[in-house]
Amino acid sequence: MSAHASVRPTAIKKIGASEIHILWSDGHASTYRASYLRRHCRCALCVEELTGRPLLAPEMIPDDLTIVSVELVGQYALHFQWSDGHSTGIYPFAELRALCPCPHCASASS
Ligand SMILES: [Zn+2]
Ligand SMILES: [Zn+2]
Repeated sequence: MSAHASVRPTAIKKIGASEIHILWSDGHASTYRASYLRRHCRCALCVEELTGRPLLAPEMIPDDLTIVSVELVGQYALHFQWSDGHSTGIYPFAELRALCPCPHCASASS
């Protein structure tokens, strides 16, 4: 059971075209680059479902990828549409939180 299983975003804000800022229900704040999130997409086109083998090479994603749209999926996930045309990725809140690139989270998850 993840420690972040019950956290939810309380505010979601795009910063320019290629970053998104999320404020979480436990007070934590995360800033993600679009290219970073896109490279962690877990959809069936990016990760082979049975084996978990990555089908997506990180270098296929341009660093200047932008966020076309972001929307809530029910009460559990965010859905992004990216500027490379990809839009099948769903990011459950707990996974999104686990991807937080801030130094605090990066050291806690290793
Ligand atoms: Zn994907
Ligand atoms: Zn963090």
